[in-house]
Amino acid sequence: MGGGSYIWKAWRLKKMSSRQIKVYKDLMGENEVWAEKIRALCAKTNTVMLNIIGSPGCGKTALLEKMAQQNKKNITFAVLEGDVETTHDAERLDTHNIIVSQLLSGGSCHLEAKLVYHALADLELDKIDLVFVENVGNLVCPAEFDIGERAKIAVLSITEGEDKPVKYPLLFSEAKAVVLSKIDLLPHLSFDIESCVSYIKQVNPDVPIFQLSAQSGKGMEEWNEWIRKNIEGN
Ligand code: MG
Repeated sequence: MGGGSYIWKAWRLKKMSSRQIKVYKDLMGENEVWAEKIRALCAKTNTVMLNIIGSPGCGKTALLEKMAQQNKKNITFAVLEGDVETTHDAERLDTHNIIVSQLLSGGSCHLEAKLVYHALADLELDKIDLVFVENVGNLVCPAEFDIGERAKIAVLSITEGEDKPVKYPLLFSEAKAVVLSKIDLLPHLSFDIESCVSYIKQVNPDVPIFQLSAQSGKGMEEWNEWIRKNIEGN
């Protein structure tokens, strides 16, 4: 029996059945509504919100810590810190005197717009230039959910495989910038930067790529400059 027959039988069964079937469709629809509310709130308060996405341990929080240290005088920024459990990352950021709230996804692999909206609405957005959302560590799910952000930023550390951009193409194709982090470790690894860059360009030919280390500070200047330009262009 071929696949076609199987589908035909399934169709006949559905046609002949008198049972009611519950269909749960358009769950993303509610997320879209909240994402729109976030866009409206950001537009009203002149706030830029960036959605940082990368694997657990790729250096998302470390990047934000370094930015907090380096941009104290010229940018007022807040972080909405997404994790499945614990407030560890929010506590790390709090020591740098930046405005931070912890969003717990409660087991979910991504943040949804409704939760982000409520945390965002509680901030004094008139006094904030930039809000970073550090999404739950994951290369797949967060890329699928619109949280009303200005841009998604993909973070990939060089301790991961150089072919991740083609293995997880949605994130890297949607990203408005890609950060290659932990670049200070390059002498100790067999990571092939050129091949990684060509994989990124394969899914997103024009995306800016920032090779940096939050540990040593290498490459941070170019990254901070790109961030500043994004705020100015608001
Ligand atoms: Mg983190």
